[in-house]
Parts: sequence; structure tokens; C-alpha cells
Amino acid sequence: MDDIASLADFAARHRRLFVLTGAGCSTDSGIPDYRDANGDWKRPSPVTFQAFTGDELTRRRYWARSLVGWPTMATARPGASHRALARLEASGRVGLLLTQNVDGLHDAAGSRQTIDLHGRIDTVRCLGCETRTPRARLQQALRARNPAWAAQEARAAPDGDADVEGRDFASFDVPACPLCGGMLKPDVVFFGESVPRERVQAAYAALSEADAVLVAGSSLMVYSGFRFVQAAVAAGKPVVAINLGRTRADDLLALKVTQPVGDALTALAEQLAA
Ligand SMILES: [Zn+2]
Repeated sequence: MDDIASLADFAARHRRLFVLTGAGCSTDSGIPDYRDANGDWKRPSPVTFQAFTGDELTRRRYWARSLVGWPTMATARPGASHRALARLEASGRVGLLLTQNVDGLHDAAGSRQTIDLHGRIDTVRCLGCETRTPRARLQQALRARNPAWAAQEARAAPDGDADVEGRDFASFDVPACPLCGGMLKPDVVFFGESVPRERVQAAYAALSEADAVLVAGSSLMVYSGFRFVQAAVAAGKPVVAINLGRTRADDLLALKVTQPVGDALTALAEQLAA
């Protein structure tokens, strides 16, 4: 059997899938990923929670790059991976889609049983009063306060970031929460920060109901996602992964499909619909 036939056979034998997705699902949508085929960093590692909250210059630099990078996120559209997974859910094959991506593209494609493990980049949270507001609204405030930056163009980087360097970040003007004056932060889980407990528990509950796990477009290098594969294996649930590169779970997999994730998921959805 070829890879796709093996994948379809796996899905036929395990009807209710717990799906875990990563950056590889969104690269076709123009959102870069962090890691190379070997699972190593392609670029400087992301800002940590501690640096963001503890250092004002880091925070100014983050928001300056975000101002420039946001339009790429705001205009990104679902790709083949997102559409195929929405079809699989519509046909009753997906119990939960747990994504490590923060771009909201699974929801945009029509998936409904989703948990955004690491939060959403289209939402801003106040660390003072917990009020959540749309990132698009903050963009207006960032542009108004920093008109010279609004015209800046740069190469898109992961998670709504952009490669902007050699500028004076110290003068970048970051607004505070209009309600309480608190610090604003994108509503995503930064490195050095924990995933909210109720979100993790909801994902484990869905995993316990699933027959098997399908990993799509993730190297599983981040423990917050990898632990669900470990839990599945410990519970005797088989795990299949579609990923072009190495994954942290390669020696735990029942099946590994080394193909472009969009192509493989599209073929799977078509075979199951036939
Ligand atoms: Zn506030």
C-alpha cells in the first residue's frame, strides 16, 4: 500500500479521530513556520513571556514588528489542509481538532470542534483586567501612534511577526488598556507561559473519547502538543502523523506519512468520501 492508501485504511479502522495540527497546515496560507525539516529553529526563538512582561524595550520591539506583520495574518485564507480537515469533521470523522496554530484558519475553513491550544493572535488580552479585544482594533491605535511605522514593509515572520530590524524601537509608542491602564498582550501562549488548565483538560477529555490520533503538519517539538501524543500512546491509541520532516514522536507512530500535508489530507478526505 502507498502512504495515502495506508492513511485511508487507518482512518477506516479508527472512525473517531483526535486531530492535532501545527504550522505545516498554514504555510500554504503564507504564514511562515519556525522550524526546518529536522525540527530545529530556522530563526531566532520567539519572545518569552518573561521578556515581554519584564522588559519595556522587548515589548516595544514586539509590537512594532507586530504592527508590520499583522496585515499578513489578517488577510491569510484557509488552505488545502484546513479545508480537508473541515470536510473530515463534517463527515463525522473528527472528534476534536486541537491546533497549536494561533491563526484561526481552521475556524475560518469551517471546522467547529476546535481548541486553540496556544490561543489566538486575532485577540488581545489585558493582563490587568482580563478584557479581550480584537487585534484589528489595536492595529488602528498602533498605526495612529506610530505613523512612520505603518508604512514599513518587511518579510513576514511566524505568528504575525515581521522581520524589522535596524530601527529605533525605543521610540515606538505602545498603548495601554483603555479601561484600566494595564499591559496589553496578544492572547497567545508565549514560550515560558502555561496553557490555561481548562483548555488542557478539555483536550484530554476529547482524547479519551477518540479512537486514534492524527497529527498534521507538526514536528511536535513543543511539549504542550507532544504530551497529547504521549498520552494517546500510553492509553493504547495509535497515532499517525503527516509531516514532511522529522517529528519528536517518530518512534511512537503507528504510521508516518512523509508528504505535503495539504495534499495528503485532501487525498484522505476524497478517499473517505468516495
Ligand atoms: Zn485592562
